[in-house]
Amino acid sequence: MNFRVGSGFDVHAFGPGDGVVLGGVKVPWSAGVIAHSDGDVLLHALTDALLGAAGLGDIGQHFPDTDPQWRGAASTQFVAHAVQLLARDGWRVVNADLTLLAEAPRVAAHRAAICQSIATVLGVPLSAVNLKATTTEKLGFIGRSEGLAAQAVVLIAHG
Ligand code: MG
Repeated sequence: MNFRVGSGFDVHAFGPGDGVVLGGVKVPWSAGVIAHSDGDVLLHALTDALLGAAGLGDIGQHFPDTDPQWRGAASTQFVAHAVQLLARDGWRVVNADLTLLAEAPRVAAHRAAICQSIATVLGVPLSAVNLKATTTEKLGFIGRSEGLAAQAVVLIAHG
């Protein structure tokens, strides 16, 4: 059995709107995010982690934000496509561990739904997905609530 690890990171600025999509779940909030797609930081970081683990580059190479095909796209499409690319090479996802960095919105009430959504798109059991959330103690652009960020780590297995 072969194992590989991948990591991903993503940031989006807040903008006009009434909520942010996190892990494929719309979380109501007094702002939205500025993005070409739905601006789902968790799934963008996760997509990069998947691609990175398999040595397949990054999200910008596979889903250019200049491509009208991806305008307003649900980021679950990006994750599903990355999972397909991995499966083509014989890789399956073992687990995913994600961290949301934001002062707001708080996701505690949405954590179960977000983990289930991510597990579904990855095709793994719920127990294989973990979501953590932290603030940055009011420091920096996240602390000033100008935007939010996410980190993702995945393990993939072959054979
Ligand atoms: Mg992004």
